[in-house]
Amino acid sequence: MTEKHTSQGRLFDTAPEWILDDARQGTVATVVLPDGVDRPLDYLVPESLAAAVEPGRRVRVPLGRGNRERVAYCVEVRTGDLPQAPLKSVIAVEDEAALLAPRMLELTRWMADRWMARWGEVLEAVLPAGVRLRRTARVTPLLVATGASPTRPPTPAQARVLAAAAAPITAEALARAADVSRAVVSRLVRTGLLRAAGAVPAAPGRRPIRHDRPESLSAEQGAALEAILDPLRRGKHASIVLFGVTGSGKTEVYLQAVEETLAHGRQAIVLVPEISLTPQTCDRFRARFGSVAVLHSHLSPAERHAQWREIAAGNVGVVVGARSAIFAPTPRLGLIVIDEEHETSFKQATAPRYHARDVAEWIARAEGVPLVLGSATPSLETFQRCLVGEWRMCRLPGRVGGTELPPVLSVDLRDPSSRSRGAITPRLAAGIRWALDAGGQVMLLLNRRGFATAVLCRGCGHSVRCGQCDLAVTLHQPGSRGICHGCGLVARLPADCPACGAPGLVPRGTGTQRLEDQIRATFPAARVARMDTDTMRSRGSHERTLDAFRAREIDILVGTQMIAKGLDFPAVMLVGVVNADAALHLADFRASERTCQLVTQVAGRSGRGSLGGRVVVQTSTPDHPAIRAAAAHDYEAFVRSELPIREALLYPPFGCVVRIVVRSVNGPAAERWAGNVAERLRGESEGVPGIRVLGPAPAPIARLRDRFRWHVQAHGPEGGLLREIVRRATATLATPDDVAWIVDVDPVEML
Ligand SMILES: [Zn+2]
Ligand SMILES: [Zn+2]
Repeated sequence: MTEKHTSQGRLFDTAPEWILDDARQGTVATVVLPDGVDRPLDYLVPESLAAAVEPGRRVRVPLGRGNRERVAYCVEVRTGDLPQAPLKSVIAVEDEAALLAPRMLELTRWMADRWMARWGEVLEAVLPAGVRLRRTARVTPLLVATGASPTRPPTPAQARVLAAAAAPITAEALARAADVSRAVVSRLVRTGLLRAAGAVPAAPGRRPIRHDRPESLSAEQGAALEAILDPLRRGKHASIVLFGVTGSGKTEVYLQAVEETLAHGRQAIVLVPEISLTPQTCDRFRARFGSVAVLHSHLSPAERHAQWREIAAGNVGVVVGARSAIFAPTPRLGLIVIDEEHETSFKQATAPRYHARDVAEWIARAEGVPLVLGSATPSLETFQRCLVGEWRMCRLPGRVGGTELPPVLSVDLRDPSSRSRGAITPRLAAGIRWALDAGGQVMLLLNRRGFATAVLCRGCGHSVRCGQCDLAVTLHQPGSRGICHGCGLVARLPADCPACGAPGLVPRGTGTQRLEDQIRATFPAARVARMDTDTMRSRGSHERTLDAFRAREIDILVGTQMIAKGLDFPAVMLVGVVNADAALHLADFRASERTCQLVTQVAGRSGRGSLGGRVVVQTSTPDHPAIRAAAAHDYEAFVRSELPIREALLYPPFGCVVRIVVRSVNGPAAERWAGNVAERLRGESEGVPGIRVLGPAPAPIARLRDRFRWHVQAHGPEGGLLREIVRRATATLATPDDVAWIVDVDPVEML
């Protein structure tokens, strides 16, 4: 390993006094910088620091000619003969204890190789910001209301503070949330109405915990649970896929597996796609186990740090969180669960571009614990691993409680009899009316936000485009603003066509805003709410809307894919998919898979209670295998039709893909550079069977935020070999200043 490193000391002709080049024996620390330098570097450990320098702690080291002090991660320490070349010395040790266990160091090094990221950036990514605070930084204590009655009536300001402190919160966040000064908060601490929180904070604003008791399991649930418990009891690794239709009781299987894990004195990590979109799943874990660390994106760095310490101390049995919760420092890990494993949010979109499913498998294997992956619509990657016998699949084919999967009616939008003035065909309108008349609720999915999806010239057909992206602007009301969904830029729409000058532009296509308007006009007596990123901007708004829907204060919920995930509302009698084709024709080989998953998932929200339910799917391609399978509740039929296509094209899961995206404000420079990369890739893969290089080509979104985008794809049968080729092809490339490029291994996003 030593040969690979370059000692910084070699840069010097005359060694400064702090370089001990006469010592033959000594201790050397290998460190990794979070940014700037890619290679690990070696430093001498002075006697005075020998006890404190250990792998997993951060150290201060001098770097470069200027000996600028940098914080770096120590990844290895060894004692013995020193190299010939003089080494610089470690200056100081940053942390009082190791932040990363040896296994985490091993994991991060594997991740860096697996996703072609720098080791330093992976180390930064697995440690929450709060944990990376300087050792001198004070950890902000959390406050919580004691529940004691005030001796004097509280003022309205104090009442606001106490309400906001129902769950642990920092003093600063509390003052902000209640809109009071810090002095008011301090006074309440002095009077005993607030206290320092010792426990791990719960997600803000949730209901108090009710302890529920385990349900009895169906035969299939029992078999699935046994498949998890068998390796758990024997301390062995196994990957088990719960392929269960919507409403089949997967969560109950997770809960009982976690219960047994805790009974063995071990900890469990449960990954969900996004905390705010899966409040019911989190609630069920909290209700069953009480002390659950919920890691969500609204936590402050101090709160995150507090949770990290509680988990590392072994005080928390269950960790529930999105993607990055997989890095929770559980000393006694016993089980990992990934719910809705097909969700693309498990892959990080920025460097390091890791997939939590693969990380989870690595950890589960290393720790010898079971990994459970659950979905009604498993990804094709997961499905294929079950088909070849690597992973075990347990099927849950029926809903719990004997309720039936709802019948699905496809409405062919090309059929003249289904023509409608708005986005609601007569048959969907009839379905909505049927559900409302029977006292049920309705969910309508339209995966396009805004009022109109385009603003067109009636004369020449030109659509108004974003000034800095290659995208049509979406019309948002009120105020007739044109918003680009690529960069978020808001523009006043022109009065006349920018292309031909003809007066008057017309909105085309329906977004959720317009759909909401049409629903309100058609069903004036119904109470309607909309759930999309435009209406759900403020903290807690998801939960408020879902609570209102649960309390039957809303009859019709209109929304984007936000409403499709794991929600369980027994009174929903009709689910309408307004445009099932919306994402079917995107330039992405996973477009059919995603469409089938989305339609299946949202259809599964219907008929979960005793009232029964129906689903209406509006589509222009009712015969597409993705739509047909979703309508027949037969996801496996889709898998059977899709796998041979992927195999023929050598797409995942039969081949690996590395995508290189090149960006520049200068279009020709981006094109030239992408051409350069493609040429080198072709050179490196010459004579290597099965490697295919596609491009350079403009990316499907050819310009974003004023940057021109080109991409190159390399496909190959085996990931390791493919990455090696990409590494060799890009190793010596000198990148011009006006060009930036990224490497995405196993991309889930191709736009
Ligand atoms: Zn025009
Ligand atoms: Zn834009």
